[in-house]
Amino acid sequence: MKQIRVLSQAVADQIAAGEVAERPSAVVKELVENAMDAGADRITVEIQKGGVDCIRVADNGSGIPEDQVETAFLRHATSKLVEIDDLYRISTMGFRGEALASICAVAQVEMITKTADAEEGICLELNHGVPSRRDKLACSNGTTVLVKNLFANVPARMKFLKKDSTEAGYVYDLLSRIALSRPDIAFTYICDGKEMFATSGDGKLESVILKIYGLDHAKGVLPVDYTEDNIQICGVIGKPELARGNRTRQTLFVNGRYVKNHVIAKVAEEAFRNSIMVGRFPFFVLQLNLPKELVDVNVHPAKTEVKFANEKQIYDVAYHAIRNALYTATEPKKDETTKIPQRNTSKTNSGNHGGYGSAFKQDRVDPVAVRSYLENTIPKAEEKNEEGLPKTTYVFRDVEETKPVTAEEVLDALLEQEEQKSTTAEQMTFPQVKEETTNETHIRVIGQVFDTYILCQQGETMLLIDQHAAHERLRFESLREAYLKKEHFSQMLLTPIVLSLEYQEKQTVMEHLDYFSKFGFVIEDFGGNGILLQGAPISGDEGVLRDLVLELAEALQMQMKHPIADFEEYALDMISCKYAIKANHKLTLTEMQDLVQRACALEDGGVKTCPHGRPLRVEFSKIEIEKLFKRRV
Ligand code: ADP
Ligand code: MG
Repeated sequence: MKQIRVLSQAVADQIAAGEVAERPSAVVKELVENAMDAGADRITVEIQKGGVDCIRVADNGSGIPEDQVETAFLRHATSKLVEIDDLYRISTMGFRGEALASICAVAQVEMITKTADAEEGICLELNHGVPSRRDKLACSNGTTVLVKNLFANVPARMKFLKKDSTEAGYVYDLLSRIALSRPDIAFTYICDGKEMFATSGDGKLESVILKIYGLDHAKGVLPVDYTEDNIQICGVIGKPELARGNRTRQTLFVNGRYVKNHVIAKVAEEAFRNSIMVGRFPFFVLQLNLPKELVDVNVHPAKTEVKFANEKQIYDVAYHAIRNALYTATEPKKDETTKIPQRNTSKTNSGNHGGYGSAFKQDRVDPVAVRSYLENTIPKAEEKNEEGLPKTTYVFRDVEETKPVTAEEVLDALLEQEEQKSTTAEQMTFPQVKEETTNETHIRVIGQVFDTYILCQQGETMLLIDQHAAHERLRFESLREAYLKKEHFSQMLLTPIVLSLEYQEKQTVMEHLDYFSKFGFVIEDFGGNGILLQGAPISGDEGVLRDLVLELAEALQMQMKHPIADFEEYALDMISCKYAIKANHKLTLTEMQDLVQRACALEDGGVKTCPHGRPLRVEFSKIEIEKLFKRRV
């Protein structure tokens, strides 16, 4: 039998240290929280090689009095926790008096500190917890902690660390969220000598968002500020266009502390239910402030999960807060759009009863009402298809296409109506195609229905072809052919586009440049978090290309975690989908004829569906139609 032994102090310390100093980002978290507790308003964090070689956190806070510097490194030494009841406060960040001791156990640490009233500062060096040098020196007020060779004495823990760039990414993620929680503190993050971001400390959340997420985010957020029953929720929520395919851009602080909580994420998603596609998640940075008895924070300083005593109440307040923010922002627009059906019905529809559905009872098609009708009736792609494909966003583009009607569109529709009023009825019939043919295989295009389907006749059959599905399939086939033949299919952009990404996104793109170039992207590093896009597999405006790069990066990230077999096809499909003609898009007769001819050639070759498995066309025989009209029984 094995002997029961008491662990040596050194081993016990290393085990305890593992709880607090689990990885470089955890060390940074403790040091930055100490700096914040010390009242600093300028904090600089610098790391090298993912934080394993070196972590340096410098602050301009209170500093530590000369006679207490050594004490700070003792286990359970703290200036913050006085009574056990204090454990339930979460006003200070760390409070177990363990961080410095734990970090010391697994690294070499050097601290330089000076209080405002001291003449000189103190520099203390510790080698795995044991003080090895102490000097006086001239320095500015505040504290700088240098952590070197993290885990060099604990190889077992070292093995659990990820690549340097991944560890650096965790630090980036952590610091960016801390910076978002404290716009009044100027944070600078430097990684391997490169400045990753620097916030100004001007107290404005929007300024921090600008520095971390870029201009589109700073411009695309709506303020949230709402209080009910002692529960306050404030911050910003992103407009629908900032939504992304994962939740990494959702940040919540409860009483000042960054936490993860499903309730608030759910609320935000629910509040955006009809304006964001399924599978996309809204951007937000929210602060929830509430009496401490309403939250149940796990007191372990490294944990970020939080539970609420009364979830339903929090849910309701948060829902109101977010809906209020959205409503305030969209109110004037809503007014314009809700008037449309009434105006239309009173002008052109006197014999009919109003409402959206009535558009189809008229002999004239009202484009606005059709659009509204489509918004409510176009089947959502998720209900139908894409077996085996992970639920990412790109398959739901039909939903994305049905945007709310804008003021300009209303105006267009009204003008169109005026025009129609003064013209004769036969202009509303479908375009007359001169050449009549009896050829059974010839497909005659009759016209476009709902700007989405192409109506055709082929012999004794009536066909409806889905323009998006058909075009997407065609595009997919040609991209795939080029890809398989290893042909280069990128198109150089006239003006290269600079995309500013998030740290993690840029890492993914840079790590998979070979993939991106295989799929026709010509990308270069643009420094900082920027990339320069010089070529792309498809033409499109900046927004389309930006989305495509990000979606592909997201897909690659997913692929690393949960690989799918046909990733190439999946990616090609994503590209073709972005490029394809959308639903609700008017086509000319020539465009329709061209599309139909090529799509039907594909069908003859056996391809009957779009890459997601939706049918390219549906057919009605003459007999079926005759039965509908009771000409035949
Ligand atoms: P805790 O933060 O839980 O008190 P730590 O081990 O992190 O425990 O720190 C021990 C003590 O050292 C703190 O209570 C604080 O008094 C002092 N201290 C640590 N870092 C700083 C800093 N950056 N500025 C001023 N004082 C600090
Ligand atoms: Mg601490």
